Amino acid sequence: ESVVHWFKRDLRLQDNRGLSLASQKAKELGVPLICMYIVSPQDYQAHLTSAVRVDFEMRTLEVMKEELAGLHIPLYTTTIEDRKAVPGHLLQKFKEWGAKHVYCNIEYEVDELRRENKLVKKCLEEGISFTALHDDVVVPPETLMTGAGKQYSVYSPWFKSWIKHVHAHPDLLDAFPAPTTNDESAKRRFSDIFSASIPSAPSNKLLSKEEKERFANLWPPGEHEAQARLSRFLEGKVSKYQDTRNFPAMNTTSIISPHLSTGTLAARTAVRAAREANSTKKLDGGNAGVAGYISELAWRDFYKHVLAHWPYVCMNKPFKYEYTAIEWEYNDEHFAAWKEGRTGFPIVDAAMRQMKEMGYMHNRCRMIVASFLAKHLLLDWRMGERYFMEHLIDGDFASNNGGWGFSASTGVDPQPYFRIFNPLLQSEKFDADGEYIRRWVPELKGVAGKAIHDPYGRGAGKQAEKAGYPKPIVDHKQCRERCLARYKEGLGRG
Ligand code: FAD
Repeated sequence: ESVVHWFKRDLRLQDNRGLSLASQKAKELGVPLICMYIVSPQDYQAHLTSAVRVDFEMRTLEVMKEELAGLHIPLYTTTIEDRKAVPGHLLQKFKEWGAKHVYCNIEYEVDELRRENKLVKKCLEEGISFTALHDDVVVPPETLMTGAGKQYSVYSPWFKSWIKHVHAHPDLLDAFPAPTTNDESAKRRFSDIFSASIPSAPSNKLLSKEEKERFANLWPPGEHEAQARLSRFLEGKVSKYQDTRNFPAMNTTSIISPHLSTGTLAARTAVRAAREANSTKKLDGGNAGVAGYISELAWRDFYKHVLAHWPYVCMNKPFKYEYTAIEWEYNDEHFAAWKEGRTGFPIVDAAMRQMKEMGYMHNRCRMIVASFLAKHLLLDWRMGERYFMEHLIDGDFASNNGGWGFSASTGVDPQPYFRIFNPLLQSEKFDADGEYIRRWVPELKGVAGKAIHDPYGRGAGKQAEKAGYPKPIVDHKQCRERCLARYKEGLGRG
């Protein structure tokens, strides 16, 4: 007999609800705990998971495998080519290992929920208890309701309710103990699993040698790295977070999103640590930086609640149905220029190049480039949403969809459609010295002063041209007018 924990987007040993309960159950029954992880190339394809993310997950699994082995806990990993065959393979393994109890943490995307549903039924038929738990969020979806008993669609009142709920149920932030050691005999019984290596990334998600090295240097894997990043941030930068978090050159945010989205860090752990760092020992009040940080972490919960309550956002539809009738442009050249960071708008280009180079982009810049795609270029925001998923290491459906919906004004609690970011003003305000632009757009390194924000409009055109920097592909004023008209028209029809 045995107890199984199926890892998905919860790649950690500490403070992992499913894993912790599985370990407790195994102890209670006096049987070994077995962990498993399935590599599913078709799922990667369906979710547009980036190669950098897949590589990060594989490197994380290496770390976990070793750590689990130290506890005599086997980590079984395999690649299943046909995603429809995943439940069948899981079941076969459960039976082979004599597992009577299986645990996992819930993923809220529609495909995953459907698959889990199937699996629960199949397990029931086989007399196996299958427990799927809320772990990815601090407050489980469908917990917070408006006075009228509805899901909130506006962040501020939802956040108030989130704070109140967590203060009333402080156990939501309690840590789940790490798994305990298996009996040594597990080493022999599962020697084949212990000796097997982690699969390599599937052929549809391969990185070049150069990329592999670059990303390995940028993003060390594993939960200890995640914890260390969080601690460093909470011991230092958090105090000025509220005043500095919008400035991309300053490197003042926690950069833990890759860890939260692969689950090497639990949102619960981050919120608990932030609460401890607050002078009030509460989620609000006290240090403005800490309170602001907790509010950002809560956005992640908010978007997951939205996804769980309105699963149609997973189905290529805008949250605001009336926005389906907007007529988008079809301009491959503009889309290519945006993707490659050669729009001639330095702040946009810097941000797009940062994403390509790092698999990461600063939040302010995500808003700027998303708004630019949807409103200046009038290209369907879903193209940008997909491109982000294909390149981000922290790609997360709910946050990405929420962020794009906010910026394109088609989502939940969005920026009003008539508010159109002026890339030049954004650049002047949030990258006043042009440090971020110079870092990512080497052609403009030599451009001095304010001209950095708009070299062709501010007398540095010759210099920019000589360095090979493109002219702006569109005119801000014209784009603004076109966008206002097109959104208004669409809303009239929608
Ligand atoms: P910090 O400022 O240190 O914040 C800490 C954590 O809070 C983040 O790691 C994140 O988990 C959460 N958080 C902060 N801001 C937001 C937000 N606006 N929405 C949701 N959660 C937030 N975040 C992702 O994790 N994955 C995505 O795919 C993603 N796509 C985005 C797309 C767009 C168009 C926009 C506007 C935002 C997107 N975000 C996404 C949110 C945000 O940009 C990143 O979470 C943040 O930049 C990560 O950096 P950090 O860890 O240093 O953040």
